[in-house]
Formats: sequence, C-alpha cells, structure tokens
Amino acid sequence: MTLSFTKLRLYRQALPLKHPFQNSSTIVTEKDVLFAELIDQDGLRGYGECVAFDSPWYTEETVETAQHMIQQHLWPLLQSQEITHPRELNLDSVQRHHMAKTALEGAVWDIYAKKMKQPLYQVLGGKTNQVAVGAAIGIQSDLPTLLTKIEEALASGFQRIKLKIKPGYDLHVLEQVRRHYPDIPLMVDANSAYTLQDTALLQQIDRFNLLMIEQPLGSDDLLDHSILQQELKTSICLDESIDTLADVQVALALKSCQIISIKLGKVGGFNQARAIHDYCQERGVPVWCGGMLEAGIGRAQSLALATLPNFYYPADPGPSNRYWQRDIIQPEIGMEKGMITLPEQPGMGYQVDLSTSEQVYSS
Ligand code: MG
Repeated sequence: MTLSFTKLRLYRQALPLKHPFQNSSTIVTEKDVLFAELIDQDGLRGYGECVAFDSPWYTEETVETAQHMIQQHLWPLLQSQEITHPRELNLDSVQRHHMAKTALEGAVWDIYAKKMKQPLYQVLGGKTNQVAVGAAIGIQSDLPTLLTKIEEALASGFQRIKLKIKPGYDLHVLEQVRRHYPDIPLMVDANSAYTLQDTALLQQIDRFNLLMIEQPLGSDDLLDHSILQQELKTSICLDESIDTLADVQVALALKSCQIISIKLGKVGGFNQARAIHDYCQERGVPVWCGGMLEAGIGRAQSLALATLPNFYYPADPGPSNRYWQRDIIQPEIGMEKGMITLPEQPGMGYQVDLSTSEQVYSS
C-alpha cells in the first residue's frame, strides 16, 4: 500500500473562547485556527490542525507563518513523497516550523488510519480509548473567582487542577487553595515567569504537595532548570523547553526536570511525539499531554496521542464545551467523570464541519 496525496485545502476560522484564558504573559480571547484538509489518491480525506497563535508570544510560529510555510514549502515536499506508512514521512528538509508540519502530518495519520479502518489511537499504539483529563485554570482577578472555578471544575469531574502562576500571584494563592482543598491533585504552571533569583520563593512551594511545577524558568534555560531542580523537592516539568527529542535528551541528561509535557503541535507531530514518549518510557520518566487551546481536530488528535502507555498524568485537552460555543467537529468531545472516551470509528473518529470556516487555499 502506498500513500500519495493529490489535493490540499486550507481553512481558517476565528473561534471565540467561552472564557478568556490568561497566563503569566498573555490573555487569549479568540483563536484564529488553521485547518488542513488533505485528500489522497483514493479520495480519502484527512484533517489536521495548526495550533499556533496569532502572535509569537508562545513560540516563534504564528497562524500566518504556518499558512505560508505549508503553501510554499511543506505541501510541495509532501506531494513529492510516496510512503507506505506515516512514520516514513520526512519533512526535515524544512527547519523547525513544527506547528505547520503538525497540521499536515496529522492529516496524513488520519488518512492512514481510515485506510486501515482503525481508530487513530490504535494505529498510534494506544491500548485504551479512555483518557483522564485535568482542568487548567488561568490567572483570575480575585481569589473568590478562582475558588469558584476550582469548585466547578471538581464538580464536573476533572481529575486534577492546574493553576497558572506568576510573580505576585503564587504563594498566597496556593495557600488559600490548599486551605480549601488540602488533598486535591494540584499543580502549577509558571510559563517561564521566574528566574534563578526566585529560587528561595520557589522552594516555598514544596510545602503545598504539588504534582509538579511546570516551566518555572525560560524556555532556553535547561541549565538553570537543572540548578533549580536540585533545590526543589517538587518535580519540575518542562513544557516550553521541549520542542524535540534532542531537547528531552539534554534535559534528562542535565536532570533539569523529572516530568515532560508533550504537546503534539509544538513538537512537530505524532512521529516526534512518539519518539519522545518512547525515550521517556525507557528511562522511567512520566509524560503527560499538554494543551494549546486546540479546536476539535487538534484536540481529538492530542487525546489519541495521550492513549499511549507512558502518558501518566491527566491530559490538558478537555471537553469541547469548556472552551468553545461550538466546536468544528461532530460529535463534540465530551467528558464523563473526568474521562474522555475516544470513538472507535476509523481515523480520528469525528466528523469535521468546516461549513463556517473560510477556505484560504486550494491546490
Ligand atoms: Mg505549560
């Protein structure tokens, strides 16, 4: 069996978030999402999503740069390849641009799973269609609002709570949250808001019995993270620092962290994500699935990845209705008792509805 691709359409849609999402560096109120619809020689359709934001605050990519890279470089490269399995796909002659690559690679995997008449999670190697999910709660204007959001998330069944923190919104917030919820699985994400000069402050989070602290320092600061981890009992999880398997290899060699967050879109797709997963599994390092405020396609594909056995902590990508008034897949992704059940239909298993999206490219 060979896979070759005859047509690509790109779509964009501005999706307003139900609730603005604030971390230590930005507030997201709406996401401009880029979708790829790929068609193979047999007429099978596969879908992928680019998870870039509209400005480069999180990584260097934006929706605009991704669309440009796909049209001008990645689509011609994909057309030139004839493969028998998605793991043979090689887009390495284009440097980085992981989010753009993921939009195409995700569509290739979707088509392949449909050809094999198997659900995507199974062709990836997942053994279960159940994924435990946690809630990520952004920075809130006041403590009562935060406590209400936590209460609502726990009542909906989410299996752990992740709080965004930043300087000035950290220890006293944790103090209050732990006073009300002494035992819940709790973690924090600093999105690089601190430096080694904050070591004494960060050591104080050890008393809150957190699952982990995610990305306390800068994305390029693997060495500083190594120094900080020696001073903390709390496990450091790296997120922004992890773009490639090589990043993971250096981080683990330096003991910069004890947990890795894998984001499908950020590492460049399933092939790289699986390589990172396997490398960590062989070394007893747990991973979990991070989120990028994905719309339905990226969300379904991230959750399929999260069925692999070394995904240990609850995933960030949760049910559609937590984020969107109306998602672009049917049925929308639902959650029961903190678990998402992935469909058993071939491919990612959801119908894509692009009727309200704008087609921006066709070739
Ligand atoms: Mg993070």
